[in-house]
Amino acid sequence: MTLESLKEWVYACVRCNTCKYIINKYYDSCPSGKKFQLESYWPSGKTWIARGLIEGKLKFSDSIVQKIYACPTCGNCMIQCELEVSDHILEIIETLRAEAVRQGFGPLKSQKAFEESIAAEHNPYKELHAQRTSWVKDAFNLKETAEVLYFVGCTSSYREAEVATAMLDLLTQIGIDVTVSKDEWCCSSPLIRTGQLKLVKELAEHNMEMIKNSKAKIVVFSCAGCYRTFKEDYPAILGQEPNIKLYHVTDYLIKLIEDGTVKFKEDTPLKVTYHDPCHIGRHCGIYDSPRKVLNSIPGIELIEMLRNRENAWCCGAGGGVKSGFKDWAVEIATERIKEAEETGAEILISSCPFCKRNLEDAIKATGSSLKFMDITELVKNRLA
Ligand code: SF4
Ligand code: SF4
Repeated sequence: MTLESLKEWVYACVRCNTCKYIINKYYDSCPSGKKFQLESYWPSGKTWIARGLIEGKLKFSDSIVQKIYACPTCGNCMIQCELEVSDHILEIIETLRAEAVRQGFGPLKSQKAFEESIAAEHNPYKELHAQRTSWVKDAFNLKETAEVLYFVGCTSSYREAEVATAMLDLLTQIGIDVTVSKDEWCCSSPLIRTGQLKLVKELAEHNMEMIKNSKAKIVVFSCAGCYRTFKEDYPAILGQEPNIKLYHVTDYLIKLIEDGTVKFKEDTPLKVTYHDPCHIGRHCGIYDSPRKVLNSIPGIELIEMLRNRENAWCCGAGGGVKSGFKDWAVEIATERIKEAEETGAEILISSCPFCKRNLEDAIKATGSSLKFMDITELVKNRLA
């Protein structure tokens, strides 16, 4: 993808500014514009930067790089924009980044480290590949093949192992023939989102081969970013749809609840609220399944936040913001924590380990009494 190939869409933005707030309600929707309060940080300004570069009136500079990377690619702008360009705003932002990398200006320094680490150890966290499954209680006895493969992702493998453990325990406990692979590599989401495309095809090809070798018929994801990458990016990268069923865990659980495989016990009442991860919500349209899962659990009362579903405020971690703008990422999450507190819920639930990471950082930073739980942890705890 080049900026030139997106020209039609870049010119389709009429700078009407509808994308700046939640339509007809005027609540904040764009973390980037809200924070920096300059046109170039809002989505409309980003399409204008693209236009300037296409017309040769602008050239990449450190200042432009700062603006195009100050965005968690939350996709709220594509929901609020009512013109046809809406489906292409994220493409424009990511292509601006890829072009910045091609021309030697991007990404931000801390994001460059992802590529080096992924090239060496197949994960962006500078951890050893050999340690990838060290969270598995009995990693030596991992099955080579199974009906279902759990694609764990780098964040759950190395930073949020409770999610990975809850997921594997949950699936095993309900009798699913499931395994995880020691050969799993980074899905490439951190690279795609920051415009570093050199290794992406190799990673996608490797992961598809790894899935083939596992003989799995179904791949399940607990990470919203990995799921989005397989579902939306891999077909474009590989030139074909993956020949396998891909489920985010929330969709998979609904199937298992409806066919009676997952049964819940009666338990203490609990008020919860749900944060929609951008990568399964706005990017893939999964809003109902997590709510259906929560509403199926006896004693759980779901109270919605003011901004929910397609209008949800981003957690602030995605698009390279967690590494490129550490403090701002937590500031974005803090706004979400306050909104969650206003519901009166005791637990904030989400369905992505990267959201968990940033929202928990904000809980810590603000001293909030709210607790965070991934949906897999809650479901596992409440199994009959
Ligand atoms: S992106 Fe859409 S809503 Fe935003 S200024 Fe352009 S046309 Fe208007
Ligand atoms: S993706 Fe999110 S942060 Fe980035 S410009 Fe759009 S609304 Fe703003």
